[in-house]
Amino acid sequence: MNKPNSISRRGFIKTLSSSALGVGALATLNQSSFAGTGKTSVGKAKNLIFMVSDGMDNGTLSAANHWLNLTENRDSNWIQLYKDRLAVRRLVETNCADSLVTDSAAASSAWGIGKRVNMRSVNVTPDGASPTPLGICAKEKGKSVGMVTTARITHATPAGFAANVPHRDMESVIAEQYLERKIDVLLGGGDEHFNPEKREDGKDLYSAFSAKGYQVLKSKEGLLNKGMSGEALLGVFSEDHIPYWIDRENIEAIGSKTPSLEEMTEVALKRLQKNPTGFFLQVEAGRVDHAGHANDAAAIVTEQLEFDRTIKLVRKFAEANPDTMVIVTTDHGTGGFMLNGADEGYQYTAERFLKLGNCKGSYTTIESHMNPKDPHGTWVRAVESVLNIQLDASEKESLMHALTLPEDKGLYSASKRIAEAIKPIAYNRFSTEWTSYNHTADVVEMAMWGPGAEELPGYIENWELHQVIRDYLAI
Ligand SMILES: [Zn+2]
Repeated sequence: MNKPNSISRRGFIKTLSSSALGVGALATLNQSSFAGTGKTSVGKAKNLIFMVSDGMDNGTLSAANHWLNLTENRDSNWIQLYKDRLAVRRLVETNCADSLVTDSAAASSAWGIGKRVNMRSVNVTPDGASPTPLGICAKEKGKSVGMVTTARITHATPAGFAANVPHRDMESVIAEQYLERKIDVLLGGGDEHFNPEKREDGKDLYSAFSAKGYQVLKSKEGLLNKGMSGEALLGVFSEDHIPYWIDRENIEAIGSKTPSLEEMTEVALKRLQKNPTGFFLQVEAGRVDHAGHANDAAAIVTEQLEFDRTIKLVRKFAEANPDTMVIVTTDHGTGGFMLNGADEGYQYTAERFLKLGNCKGSYTTIESHMNPKDPHGTWVRAVESVLNIQLDASEKESLMHALTLPEDKGLYSASKRIAEAIKPIAYNRFSTEWTSYNHTADVVEMAMWGPGAEELPGYIENWELHQVIRDYLAI
């Protein structure tokens, strides 16, 4: 393991208190603590599947498991990995170079290049270097590489395994790097970065991918009918991110167009496993994070459940291919989502939580049900119909009051405004609550199985996984 400096934990605390967290303060603690694992399984894994539920607080993992306990009398596939003693369970610290709370770009870069970078950077270090990302290391050793996500395929998490750009917003450049670097399978959203009519430079990336031998698919039907055979594949299924699962499930026009994370992952595995040298596949539930930013309880639980179904699929693959290492984790928490005890004796908690299952859409759908010309006349009805609840007079009054507040111009402004107004109603109805609209600093969960997984210490830092993976894959 690299140890660029030897600053101790105690040194870190001193650094924090003396520097008021200036830029670079956290960079001094980078990569200081890993003691080495004494690994004996180097080179034992042929394939690596890296699964990320982006922005998953432990409260989200818990809520999804409670949901399945209550509705299907079983545990989540993630929790079952532990119960079956298949996966080891590890805690991961996620600081980035310039902040205690990371963004997805810096977190994915930590995995991608084994170094902490500043927020928003994709595999470009604070001193300007652009080391080779993990996916490209795998390519150089003859492995196939795939990225699957419910976000735009050019979004920060998949990009962290294959691209180098100083800012995550350079998604049109990331799309070009995927082509130049011959990433074998790319499945997700983000038409706006491939379509010549939507790209600022007018380049037709679909044609460019086709010219390099890629099959290009743009519909769920196409993916399901033509996806299983062939090799290099670009599948882009929505202009922006793939819509939330709860909207795909409830709105036929959306659901019929966009594939699920499971469907995309199955296609990716079918294609990648043809390479006798093995593969690296990243699978991301990218919209868990977005539901967290929006404080949308029904959306976050259903996104997590979709991710969980994909774990089952991956587990099945790994059981049939035991030289596969699987990592199931998140990059950071988002929103501090949690199920809370309802009433004094908490005995109504399950009853309230189950009402979340009546919801018919995400907060995005509430927004789309509001007539911009008549928000006051449509807002209450939109909330009632999408959340499938009857509001009482005081709840209606508080919603109407929210429309009189000044609009927040922040990154997630529309959703934030809706969430802020609905928050007390959702808490009373569903017992779900949030700590913020932002990412959180909690250490995060990681399940890992495959040859040598047990050799990892119980607590690691995100950047350390880079070398662990390279060792196990011998890349
Ligand atoms: Zn986020």
